[in-house]
Amino acid sequence: MQLSSDQVFGFLLEKRVTHLHHANTVTTSCAFIQRKALFARGCMEYFDFNQTAQKSDETDRQQGVYFDVFLDTVDIHTRAKARNAYGPVLFELSAKKLIEMNLPPLWITKSNPMNWTEKTTQQEKWFQNVDELRKDFVVGRFNQMIVLRHIGGILPLESCLDRVVLDDPQMKTASHDTFTLSLGALVAARASANTPMSFKFRKRACSEGCNCLGEYQAKPKMTEEFFVPHRTKPAPIVSAVTAPRN
Ligand SMILES: [Zn+2]
Repeated sequence: MQLSSDQVFGFLLEKRVTHLHHANTVTTSCAFIQRKALFARGCMEYFDFNQTAQKSDETDRQQGVYFDVFLDTVDIHTRAKARNAYGPVLFELSAKKLIEMNLPPLWITKSNPMNWTEKTTQQEKWFQNVDELRKDFVVGRFNQMIVLRHIGGILPLESCLDRVVLDDPQMKTASHDTFTLSLGALVAARASANTPMSFKFRKRACSEGCNCLGEYQAKPKMTEEFFVPHRTKPAPIVSAVTAPRN
């Protein structure tokens, strides 16, 4: 059920939520930063932009949320003391600046769409009204996500992005320190925009007892997929050019 964005943001600010968050891989984040927007996964596919596959893609398509943009009310990495399953790049969007954007109505999930089936009712999927939100929404419950469903799958970042935080897995690729390589790719993506955004980059400072390093280092292939920018689409075919005959 759609809820008034003014009412949702009013409620979130009352709950002292100052930022909304979106986590992704370096490859997908570079596409966002270069184009100065968060794109729904379906839009990324439609426009043929580079994006890392996610195991939720198939259920997202089936459940009709593939063209929606998802935001969290907390930094999941900090709260869970673990890596974010969606990627090591965290976009921090100012709630106050989002209000000024006069966004269309928002939807809020009650559970993760990955767990929805054809039997899950609309009432089980989505908060139905602001009263229900006041009663049952808990800041930091990971399955209660803010979903933008009426923005054509594109959330412009230029006026709301405060900061991008990047994890450091303290690993190396064949030639580079992984963090340095990833940061370089993000900085280059920003510089390649026509008028680059002015947000700050920050290296993540993990809280005591965070398990992310162990998780990253135990799965080097996954970590490389998350941190090392790469083309996810085949390179365009360039047909041979024949020199004109004079
Ligand atoms: Zn950590």
